[in-house]
Amino acid sequence: RSGFVALVGRPNVGKSTLLNRLVGQKVAIMSDKPQTTRHKIHSVVTRADAQVVFLDTPGIHKPKHKLGEYMVDVALSALREVDVVLFLVEATAPGPGDEYIINQLREIKTPVFLVINKIDLLGNKNELLPLIDQFRQKFSFAEIVPVSALEGENLERLFNLVVSYL
Ligand code: GDP
Ligand code: MG
Repeated sequence: RSGFVALVGRPNVGKSTLLNRLVGQKVAIMSDKPQTTRHKIHSVVTRADAQVVFLDTPGIHKPKHKLGEYMVDVALSALREVDVVLFLVEATAPGPGDEYIINQLREIKTPVFLVINKIDLLGNKNELLPLIDQFRQKFSFAEIVPVSALEGENLERLFNLVVSYL
């Protein structure tokens, strides 16, 4: 099986960290500064049974200027071309920026996974349930997968679920 996967989410939710972790080497620029990733970065993960190309998109955020609008267009066009979209949110900090992206996702037909990142920051994993409910009410996600990109938690499951959609 082979296919293409795009990562989207607000700046700083952990897209580059997840990508680097899946690929096993640093391929995207990581920073605490929002929007370090200006371009789509293609990286390939090859396993015995699967080859998956990941695209790290510039954050789809509400544009403040012309360059911002262009970046949103680039990100959205990428989402139409891929097999799976990974929409990343932060377990401890969901916010209005997520809503903006969810509304953009309504424009595409590609299956969207909700990837709830940074679960290592949760005091109690039970906090996930109301969060999942909240997101479920807003959008029909193909899958919902809590992960920690930093600690590598649940990434194998995420990868296997992605492969099952290819
Ligand atoms: P991007 O803007 O979405 O690409 O986000 P980055 O990958 O650059 O990550 C932004 C910040 O969040 C960095 O300081 C990362 O180390 C941190 N981060 C990413 N994933 C996790 C995670 O699973 N847990 C924690 N605690 N921090 C994370
Ligand atoms: Mg990034």
